[in-house]
Amino acid sequence: MNLDETFHKYLYLAGERFKNPHLKEHLDNLMKTDFASIEELEAIQLERLKKLLTHAKNKTNFFKERLKDIDIDTMTLDDLKKIPILTKEELKANADDLRNDANGEPLIKAETSGTTGDVFLFNKNLQWDASFRAAQYRGYSWYGVKPWEKSLYFWGFKKSFKDKVKIRFLDFLLNRYRFFDYTNEEFERAADRIRKSTYIAGYSSSIHMMAEYFKKRGYKFDNIKMVKATAEKVYDSYHKTVKEVFGRKLTSEYGSAEAGVIAYECPHGNMHIVMENVIVEEVDNKAIITNLWAYSLPFIRFELGDYIVLDNETKCPCGRSHKIIKEVTGRIGRKIYGKNGIYSTININHTFKNLSFKYGIELAYSAKQYEKGKMVFEIIKDDSINESEARKKLIASAYEYFKDDLDIEVKFVEYKEGKSKKQKDFESFVEEEA
Ligand SMILES: [Zn+2]
Repeated sequence: MNLDETFHKYLYLAGERFKNPHLKEHLDNLMKTDFASIEELEAIQLERLKKLLTHAKNKTNFFKERLKDIDIDTMTLDDLKKIPILTKEELKANADDLRNDANGEPLIKAETSGTTGDVFLFNKNLQWDASFRAAQYRGYSWYGVKPWEKSLYFWGFKKSFKDKVKIRFLDFLLNRYRFFDYTNEEFERAADRIRKSTYIAGYSSSIHMMAEYFKKRGYKFDNIKMVKATAEKVYDSYHKTVKEVFGRKLTSEYGSAEAGVIAYECPHGNMHIVMENVIVEEVDNKAIITNLWAYSLPFIRFELGDYIVLDNETKCPCGRSHKIIKEVTGRIGRKIYGKNGIYSTININHTFKNLSFKYGIELAYSAKQYEKGKMVFEIIKDDSINESEARKKLIASAYEYFKDDLDIEVKFVEYKEGKSKKQKDFESFVEEEA
């Protein structure tokens, strides 16, 4: 370890400890159970679940009522299914009752970034916060990455100058440099920085945009241990460019502000659930999450708003027994309106999966509905795509799911230079029917 690295290590550790004294303990525990058997992991889950339910029952009227028929002492993990699913609407309506002092644990302010602009504020108890970051760092360790190593962070928002200065300082403490602007000059500066970094993190669309730029310039990097994508869907087509430029594909971290890190992709490409922290259920393809450390605002069987597919069969060659999320297929909530029928957004995902599977065509897309019975697929231009062929096959693929009920328009669009915003799978401008 050189002097610079040592300096950053200690600066980092001091900062983390100052911010959250529980972090080390959480990380140590997670490392101990990294290769635990499924029985051991489920025993941990049950023990933590019982504690959480007891707390929620004692502290909130909502769960006092909801859990009144559950015998917590003698329950099994399967009994969790007897508790009704908690919707976002219920959570909001009962927020005042659900927020509690978490047995005197210090609290940290947090917010969910609502996709429709409705931000929900809540407090996180320190254990909750620690469990979240520890799960992240265990994921890093799978790639040989230490959290204090130099990194590059690609964010998707424009910030004010004042915010930037504040964030730059925090980033300095974390040995991290963050990009706000997505211009060619910034990418050139990024290249210098990347040569000295070990890992890159950020929105997949931003990372991909940068990788495309480097590819055109003929830049290649062989010093990056992990390229981590958060918050956004990772398209198959992104992996190709990112691998060409950085020598490795994008690693997915799946999570949310409420639930923390739910799953982390291992080097064998499987998304392992952080079973020590969360219980993940798949109910009608919907992700139902129980966060075992969320005391200050209990999320018990919370409907997160994503479609997922769990894989209970695969034994991952990495040796970990943690259950696997096979796929996160999309956001719930917006419907697709045909001329006659109504469809789930999951059909868009299927359309593109089918296109890739059947015709070998992989596209980065964004689907938009402006009026009923019509859908616009915006496809990001790429030199390797034969546009007329891709258009024909995409329409054929969509036909398998929507038949004549939906007219499809395919547009090929350029990257948006300059600013990057969080790219959405599907956006609807059609008013929802009740
Ligand atoms: Zn694995």
